[in-house]
Amino acid sequence: MKNTSDILIVGGGLNGPALALALAQTGHSVTLVDAQPLASFEDADFDGRGYALALASQRLLAQIGIWDQVAEHAQPMLEIKASDGTAGEGPSPFFLHFDHREIEEGPMGYMAEDRYLRRALLQAVVAEPKITMINERRVIDQEIDQTGASITLDDGSELRGKLLVGSDGRQSGTAKRAGIARSGWDYGQTALVCAIDHEKPHHGIAHQFFMAPGPLAILPLPGNHSSIVWSEKTETAQAIHALEDADYMAVLRPRFGDFLGEISLVGKRFTYPLNLTIANSFVADRLALVGDAAHGMHPIAGQGLNAGLRDVGALAEVITEATRRGEDIGSLLVLERYQQWRRFDTAALAATTDMVNRLFSNNNPLLRLGRDLGMGLVSSLPGLRRGFMREAAGLTGDLPRLLQGKSI
Ligand SMILES: Cc1cc2nc3c(=O)[nH]c(=O)nc-3n(C[C@H](O)[C@H](O)[C@H](O)COP(=O)(O)OP(=O)(O)OC[C@H]3O[C@@H](n4cnc5c(N)ncnc54)[C@H](O)[C@@H]3O)c2cc1C
Repeated sequence: MKNTSDILIVGGGLNGPALALALAQTGHSVTLVDAQPLASFEDADFDGRGYALALASQRLLAQIGIWDQVAEHAQPMLEIKASDGTAGEGPSPFFLHFDHREIEEGPMGYMAEDRYLRRALLQAVVAEPKITMINERRVIDQEIDQTGASITLDDGSELRGKLLVGSDGRQSGTAKRAGIARSGWDYGQTALVCAIDHEKPHHGIAHQFFMAPGPLAILPLPGNHSSIVWSEKTETAQAIHALEDADYMAVLRPRFGDFLGEISLVGKRFTYPLNLTIANSFVADRLALVGDAAHGMHPIAGQGLNAGLRDVGALAEVITEATRRGEDIGSLLVLERYQQWRRFDTAALAATTDMVNRLFSNNNPLLRLGRDLGMGLVSSLPGLRRGFMREAAGLTGDLPRLLQGKSI
């Protein structure tokens, strides 16, 4: 069978389209397959998340040509405040405060709602002649041989390429079919997600309140508008989600406090069960995993998509360099370079988010005291504080070129 394109990507969520665009720009032909209809992604009610995009991720989105479409709906993140809190009692006196002016790179990042980011990515994918997008088709089988990778769709059609990339999310069928096992666990927590309007301006400040059942993040969107990611024990979250809107808001208000004045719900409410799941390998012969297919983590630090976009930048760079050198882009020798670049970094990030969640999602008085003092200490040491800020902005480590704002 002849190659359909150089690279086959399974999963057209967020990381799949970003990778397809990066690869098409360096001359590769790509086929991108997703089970969902294209129109459903355009629906404002499809996914209620707003993403905290690190500065480095914003640079990648600019390089792949979609930032201008996202920017008009994005909110610069100028400050981050994190504190320990108890519902109804407000935040503890010790808190962490990060101000973007200390790192002199502009905002630490941007908040962008899923509907705008997804729309910009998919419009660019549809307009790119080197990408073939296939929607409403599920990949049900895959086969790897010496010269290529083939996939079978649920209508019986077959596609073939030199390399197969799985960006098919936390339950990646691409990884399963390749026999790649996963490590991780369920957090027993579910994130309640919604958007709210508030009376007072947020001034571009993101807040994280660490509560015993799980963190509450209040993330600024353009105008007097914020995105809420509110983690609770799963049973409690399900009970809260089942409430009428007015009762839901009555539970949220004492956790939220009154620092932004009166608050009201906007649009639909969503829930996301939380788990940690890392693929035991990110590559196999003629196969690579990116995004949540490689690593799904707790949203406590808002790093999942940022880590996925680092995968995108690293894999696009490794493949492009291999093509320029005349190497086989599906060979394990080439793909191991991607794995070496990303696997340790991701495991360390997943372990850190896991530790922060364990440390903060409990009411042990000794741990509370320890973490309050820790936050006070970090806040009072400018060098340490700046280090944390550069980390949050995604500016540390061995950054792929696209995340440095450079072309490949
Ligand atoms: C509550 C919450 C808040 C978050 N906030 C942030 C944040 O602020 N910042 C941040 O960086 N990250 C955040 N994240 C993480 C971020 O949402 C994910 O990392 C990101 O959405 C993963 O995108 P993806 O493209 O890898 O996978 P997905 O979005 O899961 O996409 C997978 C795609 O694969 C398709 N698919 C699956 N199987 C098949 C098949 N067999 N055939 C065809 N198609 C298939 C699906 O239809 C889907 O479209 C958050 C996560 C949660 C849960």
